[in-house]
Amino acid sequence: MKNKKTNVNERESNIPTKKVNKANLNKVNNGVFVFTKSLTVGELAKQLNVNASDIIKKLFMQKKLVTINQYLDDDTIGELCLEYGYDFKKEEIVDVEDFEKAQIEDKEEDLVERPPVVTIMGHVDHGKTTLIDAIRNSNLVASEVGGISQEIGAYQKTYSGKKITFIDTPGHEAFSAMRSRGAGVTDIVVLVVASDDGVMPQTLEAIDHAKAAKVPIIVAINKIDVPGSNPDKVMQELMQHDVITEEYGGDVLCCKISAKKKIGINELLETICLQAEMLQLKANPKRYAIGTVLEAELDKGEGPKATLLVQNGTLYSGDYVVVGTTFGKVRRMTNEHKQIMKECGPGTPCSVIGLAEVPLAGDHFMAFPNEKQARDIAEKRKLKKVEKERSQNAGVNSLDDLYNKISEGQLAQINIVLKTDSTGSAEAVKGSLEKLNNDQVKVNVIRAAAGAITESDILLASASNAIIYGFNVRPTAAIRKKAEEEHVEIRLHRIIYALIEEMQDAIKGKMKKEEVEKVTGQAEVRNVFKVSKVGEIAGCMVTDGFIKRDSKCRVLRDGTIVYEGKIESLKRFKDDAKEVKQGFECGIKIENFNDVHEGDVIEGFEMVEKENA
Ligand code: GDP
Repeated sequence: MKNKKTNVNERESNIPTKKVNKANLNKVNNGVFVFTKSLTVGELAKQLNVNASDIIKKLFMQKKLVTINQYLDDDTIGELCLEYGYDFKKEEIVDVEDFEKAQIEDKEEDLVERPPVVTIMGHVDHGKTTLIDAIRNSNLVASEVGGISQEIGAYQKTYSGKKITFIDTPGHEAFSAMRSRGAGVTDIVVLVVASDDGVMPQTLEAIDHAKAAKVPIIVAINKIDVPGSNPDKVMQELMQHDVITEEYGGDVLCCKISAKKKIGINELLETICLQAEMLQLKANPKRYAIGTVLEAELDKGEGPKATLLVQNGTLYSGDYVVVGTTFGKVRRMTNEHKQIMKECGPGTPCSVIGLAEVPLAGDHFMAFPNEKQARDIAEKRKLKKVEKERSQNAGVNSLDDLYNKISEGQLAQINIVLKTDSTGSAEAVKGSLEKLNNDQVKVNVIRAAAGAITESDILLASASNAIIYGFNVRPTAAIRKKAEEEHVEIRLHRIIYALIEEMQDAIKGKMKKEEVEKVTGQAEVRNVFKVSKVGEIAGCMVTDGFIKRDSKCRVLRDGTIVYEGKIESLKRFKDDAKEVKQGFECGIKIENFNDVHEGDVIEGFEMVEKENA
């Protein structure tokens, strides 16, 4: 019988035990230059005992223009060390409380195969939920029957002796929300496409998300039982979006299924196992557990309750864990069938009770050998989080921020989510942006599509550190708010040239500090009155901010700009008004525009100095 006690005590700690002598860092020791951070040309020259101008000259010969205060990337520092006859070593120093950044190195002999973690995505109504149910109920073993009702956010299936872990929430929203918090838990995406409907907008969104996360896709062509369904057409449509199935000479695995009639489910499970084998997913069960929170809630009777996915190591009942910024002792651990688990190995989900507070989905967790350590680390993490929130100024994913990173040599790729008023302009703008690529900076358009800016765009941008560019489209107030919350910058343009020029300047490091527009508010058109000699008056409700007389405005229809001009007159009932605030009705006349529709949104804006924006 397995001796649990020995097993538990023999586990490897995740805390780096290596003591680093800080006095030896960023210096040459015995012919080796040990560095921990990016250094400027001047700093490196001093440490290597050479002239900064010599370094600048050397780099100039390689067609790299640098100044004395410019930061160098790791590769360049390495190359320069070698040129001057030193060996080099990059030392990563990670504070214990930043445990998610710790490089966990396992010995080859400790590694064992672990189950793949699978997320199901696809367009609405293509059968994701039906497929999840079909998989859950397929090949039921006795222990599962009757216990399948409990939702813990993930469940495991065994197929010919191999375990597969499924994330229970289908769709890419949860997937990208997790990723935006730095938690990439999914190994494989199953992309469900209904064969009677084909590739649809959310199919493409799912593809974007999987590709941005570099997670392989398995295509499940669903509803093959429907008369007239055409799997070949689906595969051809997917091909146009660079998802090339094996049948068409690519390397994407594909299954034809009917989730409803339960056809092809075993083949799909087999394909998942095959894909997992190719990925060679391994973990070390002999270390303290590391993983991610899949979901968490406050249970009335039991207190904070979290579904954890163990990604490496083994979690034991009774372990001390730090989860996000809270900690606790695993008082009870159960599987999706409410059965008590004593241990939970890599690639396996479990529901855990015993935490002091409710963590957030996407939080990382780590188990520690004793309570004191767990408590200390959780406290330090809490303090750090507060500090970070304080210092975090809005706009992590902003053009300014990108510009700073580019000029410091820290960034080589700019990710962009592009939304436009038509498919044609999406292609045109994308093409022009991608032409800006140069040796140092790559402009990477991760999504280019026609339509209004949606929450999904923001989540993708947030998860991929991208900027959103809107071309002839406008975000709603709710979307603006969401973007602010996620620290994603939305930049809007109406002329391709202006958009391209702005990006070009950012790449060259020429940020213009000039006037920018500030939206004052939005009003929804409820009625349209035709007044002879005057024209059309839009009877509106101000839904956000305020509308000001004489300010600039634009008319939006389904998120697309149909007109841009000036507010000629603004009235509250019969009286002229200077401005009308949120929650009040008003009549708006737009200068030279007589094509307002009910349901249009009138957005007021002003041009202000950037600092006041
Ligand atoms: P979701 O929005 O992607 O989760 O889609 P659902 O699983 O809710 O399925 C949408 C509809 O398609 C439901 O009415 C299902 O019964 C139906 N459906 C799902 N899979 C199949 C299938 O394989 N064949 C047929 N004929 N209908 C299906």
